[in-house]
Amino acid sequence: MQCCICGAAAEDQTPGDFDGIRVACRHCGVYEVNGAVLDRLLRLSLPARAEALAKARHFASQGQTPQIDTRIL
Ligand SMILES: [Zn+2]
Repeated sequence: MQCCICGAAAEDQTPGDFDGIRVACRHCGVYEVNGAVLDRLLRLSLPARAEALAKARHFASQGQTPQIDTRIL
């Protein structure tokens, strides 16, 4: 799959029961995108996507995977 943030080749780590996707990108790290905001994220420019991931990292507790969700988009 392609990374939703930078477009590079990335690994899909989505668990079967997760509403959304979990991505491991060697540029962006591991992050999750909630299914509710995935379309919205993919319509953004690349800099705006990177900003969304930065916000998700800010919201995530230490050791928690950042999730881009409705708090962010
Ligand atoms: Zn990436």
